[in-house]
Amino acid sequence: MFSAFRRWRRQRTADRRTVPPEQWDAVERTLPFLDFLPPEDRPRLRRMALEFLADKEVHGAEGVVITDHLLLSIALQACLPVLNIGLDAYADWVGIIVYPGDFVIPRHFADENGVVHEYEDEVLGEAWEGGPVLLSWFEGENPFDGINVVIHEFAHKLDMGNGEVDGYPCLPAHLSASDWARAFQPAFDDFCARVDRGEDTALDPYAAEHPGEFFAVMSEAFFETPGLLKSEYPAVYQKLSRYFGQDPAEREAQSARSVPLLPSSTL
Ligand SMILES: [Zn+2]
Repeated sequence: MFSAFRRWRRQRTADRRTVPPEQWDAVERTLPFLDFLPPEDRPRLRRMALEFLADKEVHGAEGVVITDHLLLSIALQACLPVLNIGLDAYADWVGIIVYPGDFVIPRHFADENGVVHEYEDEVLGEAWEGGPVLLSWFEGENPFDGINVVIHEFAHKLDMGNGEVDGYPCLPAHLSASDWARAFQPAFDDFCARVDRGEDTALDPYAAEHPGEFFAVMSEAFFETPGLLKSEYPAVYQKLSRYFGQDPAEREAQSARSVPLLPSSTL
């Protein structure tokens, strides 16, 4: 839990930091899915991002230079899922380590004969229970459609809030574990079957790896391609909407409707 002192300190530190509007705009232009947030929520997200940075330590690895742009980008993306949950959901660790592009984590495991195998795992990110979040950083605009490394890893952090990564974050009182399971379990089973059949799924097939990965990938989709998630797995979208307290598909649909029609004389 956050102590009152820690909360006060992060608010004080955030109070002292000023970011010019042009700098926010430049960062947010690289994160177009922020437009699915109601405009009146944008100042709250910016303020939470500053408090997030006051509370976390960000380190670059393998030559990554920590710039203000990188810090603000990671903070905005990390705060988006908890905008209506609260920053205390990220209370139990402070470190974020940023790597360039894909990075490699050395792994080892013992097989049934006790033989230890070592290999290198290429990953985009990793979240350690009680420890740091490791993230890849790609210069410029997020190069993936519907894939968001920051939201993915921070969704794992939310999942870990009540123990192991199992696709069940700490649920608010208005969401029961059985309601959650009734939405997620059939969707996970269906998605795994589709991936097993070799279907070219619109949602990232990595979601079929594990219920915890399913939750993290569905969270990415919820914020980056909400309409797609809502059409593929409406019950999952609805539960995530209640969990995050946001409805990005509604804003996405509104912005699609607001595309100006060509005047008839030009048709
Ligand atoms: Zn993952």
